Amino acid sequence: MYEVYALKYGERDTTACQFFYRESSHAPITLHYFVWLITGGPHPILVDTGFRDDDAQARGIRNYVSPASVVERAGVKPGDVPLCLITHLHYDHWAGHTLFPGAEFWIQKDEIAFWTGRYGGTPAFRQSANVGALANLVTLNYASRIKVIEGDREILPGLRVHKVGGHTAGLQIVSVDTARGPVVLTSDASHFYRNVETRQPVQIITSLPEMLDAFETIDALAGPSKLVVAGHDPQVSERFKEEEPGIVKIA
Ligand SMILES: [Zn+2]
Repeated sequence: MYEVYALKYGERDTTACQFFYRESSHAPITLHYFVWLITGGPHPILVDTGFRDDDAQARGIRNYVSPASVVERAGVKPGDVPLCLITHLHYDHWAGHTLFPGAEFWIQKDEIAFWTGRYGGTPAFRQSANVGALANLVTLNYASRIKVIEGDREILPGLRVHKVGGHTAGLQIVSVDTARGPVVLTSDASHFYRNVETRQPVQIITSLPEMLDAFETIDALAGPSKLVVAGHDPQVSERFKEEEPGIVKIA
């Protein structure tokens, strides 16, 4: 059976009106930044890669630590991660890929197409990009370290990705069978529990209908045990067991 950990590597303060769709409140909110580690299979699997020091400084991140250092504290050497599932290519999920030099990165075709295509560089979208990290997609692809996938897919028995889109063109979420039931890693299909639980989207969107459908997909995959892990919510450390600072055992 798999075990799943949420590993926190940073925090950022913003306001509700900067974040939730058509929200007027200026109430302060804090985002937590995570990568997710799946153990108990034939090899460790990392979901997303976080970002490096350059983004931490440029974007006013508090309490930043290298995602690689948290993965190592959780018991896996960063160089020993052979497979990273990349939910999407926003800087906070992709720009840390160089920290995992032995990994192959599995990314949806539509996600790669979006960020290398017509709209990625427009003001509406480029704020979420780390351009150097996106350029590396080509280099890594020619080094056979990118696996381009299309749609839903079983990665290993009991471990699947589900393409939902919505927040980005090729966003995929992850479901993992565990002893406690299926765990759903929503990534940014639901930054906060409030998104999925009240059906309120975030305001960073490529397709609003896809984002609304993704909420349905999350609930269907989670089933009655409701082991949903929101992508950036500080509540993750309260709803699940924080074993030590920054290391939350989901199941
Ligand atoms: Zn994110």
